[in-house]
Amino acid sequence: MQTAPVTPPMDELRRIFREAGLSFTHQRMVLYRAVFAMRSHPSPEAIYDRVRNEIPSISLGTVYKNIRAFMDAGLVREVSPHHGSLRLESNLDEHHHLVCTRCKTIVDLEESDLEPVRLKRQLPGGFRVDRYSVEFRGLCAACAERSNHSD
Ligand SMILES: [Zn+2]
Ligand SMILES: [Zn+2]
Repeated sequence: MQTAPVTPPMDELRRIFREAGLSFTHQRMVLYRAVFAMRSHPSPEAIYDRVRNEIPSISLGTVYKNIRAFMDAGLVREVSPHHGSLRLESNLDEHHHLVCTRCKTIVDLEESDLEPVRLKRQLPGGFRVDRYSVEFRGLCAACAERSNHSD
């Protein structure tokens, strides 16, 4: 279902940044690579934890600032605006999500894993849909296993 992401090579990263209108700095390169490699839909805090090994002087505020810049430039996107905390992904292909309500794990489902969703009537208020993403909520295998043992 999921293939491990291959981090784009340096010249590819330079091109991505140039096309997004962002200046290419070492810090941003490390941050983008981290988001790209983490298919777990990381929070800024999780990204911060990961990049601190490589850039010990980085602050959480700097991570947030750069992630905002990535979002504004369309390099990453917010998974879903209603989870209470910011979660990010670099997978910009249309896809859906499995969300564990207990541990907040978010796993990708490919668009082809679902039948296309079709609306049965006009949306209220003339709402215009740009894209959609289906969210399946439940328990991941680890959490389901744990709840079986504790119940
Ligand atoms: Zn879970
Ligand atoms: Zn995703």
